[in-house]
Amino acid sequence: MLSPAVMENPSQLIPFNAIDPAGGRRTPFFGLDAEALAARMVEAGEPAWRGRQLAEALYRQRLGSLDEITTLPKPLRQRLAAEGWEVGRPRIAQVFQSVDGTERYLVQGQGHGQDAQTVETVWMPEGDNGETGDGSDLDVPEMPRAPSFRLFSGERVGDQKNQQESVREELAQDDRKGKTWDRATICVSSQVGCAVNCRFCLTAKLGLQRNLSAGEIAGQVVAVFDRHGVVVGRDRVNLVFMGMGEPFLNYSSFMAAVRLLVEEVGLSPRRMTVSTSGIVPGIERFAQEPAELRPKLAISLNAPNDAIRDEIMPINRKWPIDAVVNAVRQIQLRPRERITFEYVLLGGVTDLPEHAQEIVRLIRRTGLPAKVNLIAWNPGPGIDYATPQPEVVEAFRSTLAGEGIPTYLRKPRGRDIFAACGQLKRTVEG
Ligand code: SAH
Ligand code: SF4
Repeated sequence: MLSPAVMENPSQLIPFNAIDPAGGRRTPFFGLDAEALAARMVEAGEPAWRGRQLAEALYRQRLGSLDEITTLPKPLRQRLAAEGWEVGRPRIAQVFQSVDGTERYLVQGQGHGQDAQTVETVWMPEGDNGETGDGSDLDVPEMPRAPSFRLFSGERVGDQKNQQESVREELAQDDRKGKTWDRATICVSSQVGCAVNCRFCLTAKLGLQRNLSAGEIAGQVVAVFDRHGVVVGRDRVNLVFMGMGEPFLNYSSFMAAVRLLVEEVGLSPRRMTVSTSGIVPGIERFAQEPAELRPKLAISLNAPNDAIRDEIMPINRKWPIDAVVNAVRQIQLRPRERITFEYVLLGGVTDLPEHAQEIVRLIRRTGLPAKVNLIAWNPGPGIDYATPQPEVVEAFRSTLAGEGIPTYLRKPRGRDIFAACGQLKRTVEG
């Protein structure tokens, strides 16, 4: 039987002969779940368990080419390649390194021609405080940390194979030295551009270029894991779906990617946070997801009331604050889980003392276990807002915290490489 993901998303139904008749292009395995891979293998006249081997190779071993998948017999690999299949994992095309250790990547997805635009993914060693605080991930099993990886440098990264070889060499040389990161957060994109049009956000300026596929969303994570030699089950890595795009306007692909990351890559959804601008039908769908698959939720609130939110986030006119909160109430939270409210402080617009008081009342009214992430606005060209002074930010934080609302200040990360929130806009083509 087809998985629900395949039924929902007919684009995953790919004929066995995978060469595109129009252009002789190859079709990626990466992005298909174990069930879909098994179906492909059966179509190829192979036993279904070959699909499991392929899934292991793609998502656990992170092998980047059919040649490397030696669990499959060579004649089968050759036949698959001749029929147009490839691993087709998204690859890091370009790297920007910040003085603070943050790295921004342009990731080449699976699209061709007009759809070949890169997306942005960010690696933040130590995190930016955006993902911490409710403790609901504390019971995620964690292995003691074994030795030892360091970031490897180089502005530009070549093809995937060279990159993997470089990483392996680095790792081989590196066993004695301490790993330079203790924990890390990866910020993942869900669309190229965004249709939502928040006034303060640079990504909005691109408009929506296209949705990413499940393979392109999960592939950002796997490519970055590979670059940093992340060992699943040992290293403490959080994922935030807060890069380019609105995940809940690409819901099926976003959740299919989460399923791959949980079921195939082996990550916990309690280490993942998805942020939405408040797409009510998406939140309602999300509330139906089983606890073992559902990431944590962040709502980009950004304003203390509907009047201001209407102005800075026009989507509020369609789904005002109460509608968003009512949808969020449908989620059955796990023990200790909190809903995160993100709040971008726009100087003179959303950062006044009375706004902080209004936020306190608003959050109390919701009755939700909540925490607040404050983000001082990151400037971008052509956007006419002001970044508040640090003392204003601190006053805002202490008002909320003083009223008993756990409140965190998001450290600006990688500002020098345009990796900070709302700065994710392609500046160079990969
Ligand atoms: N589209 C989703 C997720 C991506 S945006 C959403 O809006 O929630 C991730 C976060 O960055 C959001 O909370 C958004 O409000 C914030 N953000 C956008 N532009 C920003 C900017 N210029 N400075 C600081 N934060 C910004
Ligand atoms: Fe889109 Fe989020 Fe930016 Fe709004 S803040 S335009 S929803 S990416």
